[in-house]
This record gives sequence, C-alpha cells and structure tokens, in this order.
Amino acid sequence: GRVGPAGVEAGAERAEALREADRLKDALLASVSHDLRTPLTTNKALAHDIASDGDERAATIEQQADRLNRMVADLLDLSRLNAGELPVRAELNAAEDVVGAAIQQVSAAFAGRELRTSIAWTEPVLAGRFDFVHALRILVNLLENAHKYSPRSEPVEIQLARLGTTIAISVADRGPGVPAAERERIFEPFYRPERSTPDAGSAGLGLSIALRLAMAQGGTLSYEDRSGGGSVFTLALPAVADATIDALAGADELLKSG
Ligand code: ADP
Repeated sequence: GRVGPAGVEAGAERAEALREADRLKDALLASVSHDLRTPLTTNKALAHDIASDGDERAATIEQQADRLNRMVADLLDLSRLNAGELPVRAELNAAEDVVGAAIQQVSAAFAGRELRTSIAWTEPVLAGRFDFVHALRILVNLLENAHKYSPRSEPVEIQLARLGTTIAISVADRGPGVPAAERERIFEPFYRPERSTPDAGSAGLGLSIALRLAMAQGGTLSYEDRSGGGSVFTLALPAVADATIDALAGADELLKSG
C-alpha cells in the first residue's frame, strides 16, 4: 500500500534502531574479544612452560590456545573492520610481490602440493595501489581454503592479470565449488554450510574478513564457478595507470642518475 508520512517515520525509526543494534553488537564483539586475549596469553605461556618439561598434554593445550587466539584475533579484526577502525595503507605495490609473498607463506601447508602461477604479462609490472599486508592476508586465506576444500592430487592455480582499471588475482581449485544458494552467504560472518565438518580452528570468518579487507582498500572479492569444476575466487585491486608508472619509472631513473 501507500506509505504516508507516519510510515516513513516508522521506517526511519526502525532503521535507526537497527543501526544502534549493529553498533552495540560491534562494541560487544570488540570488548569481549579484547578481554579474552589476556587469559589466553597466560594459558599459552604456562602450557608452553609445562610442555617444555615433556608433558604432551600441555603441548595440546598450547596448540588449542593458539587456535583460540587466532579466532579471537579474527573477531577483533571483524569488529574493527565493521566500525571502520582498521587502518588501511594503500601504497604503490607490484602485484607479483604480494603473490610471491602469499605463496611463500603457504608453502609449508602445501608441502609438496602443486601450486601453479600464471601471469598475463601485458606490461612490465602489474602495479596497483593497495595495502600489501591486507592483500597478503586475503590471498593466504584464499590459498588455504583452496587447499582445504579440494583434493590434494589437483594443483591450485593462481592467475594474475590486469582487467581494465583493476588488477585481478584469482585462486582456482578443483574442489566441489560453492552451490548457487550459498554464494552470497559464504561472505557473511560465521557462515559455515551445514554439511561442513566441525572444525575447532575455524569460525567461518575467513571470507567475511577477506571481503571487508578488499573493500576497505577499494577492491572487491568475488566467487565464480570454474569451468570443468571447482571454484575461482578473484581479488580485484585498484590498478595504477601506465602513465603513472612511467612517471614513477622516470623519477626512479632520475634518482639513479642523480
Ligand atoms: P571457514 O573456511 O573457516 O569455514 P571461510 O569464511 O573461509 O570460513 O569460508 C566459508 C565457507 O565457504 C566454507 O565453510 C566453505 O563451505 C566455503 N568455501 C570457502 N572456500 C572454498 C573453496 N575453495 N571451495 C569450496 N568451498 C569453499
């Protein structure tokens, strides 16, 4: 029906109430996750001491404290991201460098599993303006997921290309892919599909943090089915125009010759 002035007002009040609830939720998330860190740190330190005396149970406690710590750190980051309080430092970076760093970071976890990289070289460097540490975290998360959700016998592939005004870095696997009904939900905090096995080390925060980190630096993160089966997750970051790179290269030459 028609929405009169009263309806508009009620709508605005409701929106305000929802915003307030969101703000409270974020504040609660931030304060709880912050307060959990201190006891966790103590537990870990004590378990570490006892483990070094040779008690294997203490080693297990330490491992679990580490997992909890990672989850709590994720919670804290999520609440900071929601509140717009996580600092972003977008700087001129080469996309190859962040891909290289990500590969290095997951090399132990991949332990012998094949990781293929292909770069569409349309220009000398694929330069972008992005936060190196945040982009690295996103890529590591995508690579870990690809490793976790696809058969070890199949390689994971990274592709790097410039697409218009963005640099696209995609991670492709030969796993089950993501059903149409879940494509949006996997980027929501705490979402894990019902069929997934319980995993004490993950709270379903990885992709939601990754998406927010991408957006905070002017990028995007998206999912696509892979032809022939599997997933492709693509991180798109703002590219730097050739003219800017030329200017920078020119400045570099000047510095060298000067
Ligand atoms: P977690 O892995 O901790 O559950 P994420 O936010 O990283 O949390 O992922 C959310 C869900 O998205 C996963 O539970 C999984 O169902 C799905 N998912 C993520 N990456 C992949 C992938 N490469 N292939 C298939 N499903 C995936």
